[in-house]
This record gives sequence, C-alpha cells and structure tokens, in this order.
Amino acid sequence: MIVDMKGVRKLYQSPEGEIGALEDITFSIEEGEFISIVGPSGCGKTTLLSIVAGLEAPSSGEIWVDGAISRGVNPKIGYMPQRDQLFAWRSIWDNVNLGLEIQGRRDAEHEGFVRTLLERYGLARFSDCVPAQLSGGMRQRCALIRTLATGPRILLLDEPFSALDYQTRLSVAGDIHSIIKKEGKTAILVTHDISEAVSMSDRVVVLSARPGTLKCIVNQPELHDLSPMQRRDHALFQRYFNQIWKEIDISA
Ligand code: ADP
Ligand code: MG
Repeated sequence: MIVDMKGVRKLYQSPEGEIGALEDITFSIEEGEFISIVGPSGCGKTTLLSIVAGLEAPSSGEIWVDGAISRGVNPKIGYMPQRDQLFAWRSIWDNVNLGLEIQGRRDAEHEGFVRTLLERYGLARFSDCVPAQLSGGMRQRCALIRTLATGPRILLLDEPFSALDYQTRLSVAGDIHSIIKKEGKTAILVTHDISEAVSMSDRVVVLSARPGTLKCIVNQPELHDLSPMQRRDHALFQRYFNQIWKEIDISA
C-alpha cells in the first residue's frame, strides 16, 4: 500500500476550547488507486488531506507514505488546491513550471517533461497566454500539469472543480480522471458531491459529521474501468449513489 492511516486524530485549539476535527481514521490506499473522501461540511475532509500532505501534524495516530512515517512535506505528494491558483501575470508556461522553479529543479530535462504534458493534454499552443485567456476547465488542467510536473506519485485534490459551472465540471472531471489514470498516479479526491465521487473513484470513503469518523468505505468494482461519463450511464451508478447518500448525515 502507498498510503496507510493508522488511528489518525486531530484536535484544534480554539478560544472556546478544543475542537475535535477527526477521530480514529484508519484505512489504507493501494498504489494507483483513486479514492474519494465525502462527508458533510466541516467534518474534517480538508484537515485529513492536509495531514496526508504533511502540512499539518495529527494530534495522535500515524500516516505512512510509501513505507515510511510521514513527517512534513513530502516530494512524493502533489497537492492541487480548490481554486486553480495560477498567477495572473505569469504565462501558462511559467505557471506550469512554477513548482519545479520553487524546488530549484527547473532545468531543460524537467521543462521537456512539462512540454510533453502540455502537448499530450492539448495546451501546448496556449503556452504564451496568460490564465485570463483560458477557460476555467483549461486552467484546471494547467493546475494539474503544474502539480504533475514535479513528479509526485500521489495527488491530493481538494474540491478541485467547485469553481466550475456544472457542464464544465463534468467535462473537466473526465479530463482529469483520464490524465491521472494515464499517468498511473494514486489520487485522493475530497468532494461534497456524491455523484462526482461515484463517477471518479475506485472506492469512496464516507466520513461522519464532526468530529469526522470513518463511517464506511464503498467499493464499486463494476465501475473501475469506466470513464466518469460512462459511469453516469451505468445501471449501478444510482445504486452506489444511494448507498453513500444514506450514510451521509446531512442533518449536521
Ligand atoms: P471540511 O473540509 O470537511 O469542510 P475542515 O477540515 O475544513 O472540514 O474542518 C473541520 C473542522 O475543523 C471544522 O469545524 C473547522 O472549523 C475546524 N478547523 C479547521 N481548521 C482549523 C484551524 N486551523 N483551527 C481551528 N479549527 C479548525
Ligand atoms: Mg474542506
């Protein structure tokens, strides 16, 4: 397994006292798997992702990444934030190379890899544009390429499509899903959209209302080899949707 969470617990200190954000989260992820995490707002989804990313430490419990206890930021992990966070004044080319630049690895070899990604995913001719000249979906693909550029094995995606309108969202989700599968990455997607989780992932992890505990993990083996769009047409799509819906405590 590539990610292993063991009894992860997170408490935040606030002026009113301690806030329990996560309680005893234990599950593991195999290399190449696509996992979604769903649960009501405020249940600790973002917290869990930032703990896996090494941006925050758990209050107790452990996260193992690729066989070692995770402490701090790990180059094996790429984090794709909610908004695309491309810099308006930088060209697309300079934006997608930003991660490499920060890591001091922006050399000819790595730039060549970035160029290949831009070509493969239909963005090469926009290299000299600035983000404002691109559609929301294209910007989201750029954000993914910037994340892939540094060569992470695990991608963390925190509600990456929430700024997009519904139609764009469906098509970008399809693009991003196929890019992640083609590149053979492991992915953890946080979303509050059950249909997005069913359409993109191999397994769906359902968290309870705060403090987030693990309610269940839904595997959907019949859908694994299908694209998000094909899944939405599949006879079992609604069944998995309902199964997850019943587990989510929306009264919270
Ligand atoms: P989600 O992403 O599922 O909506 P979060 O992980 O953002 O939930 O937050 C979980 C809970 O922890 C929320 O109640 C939130 O207010 C609280 N929380 C998150 N970050 C902090 C922080 N830095 N300090 C205090 N409380 C926090
Ligand atoms: Mg969140």
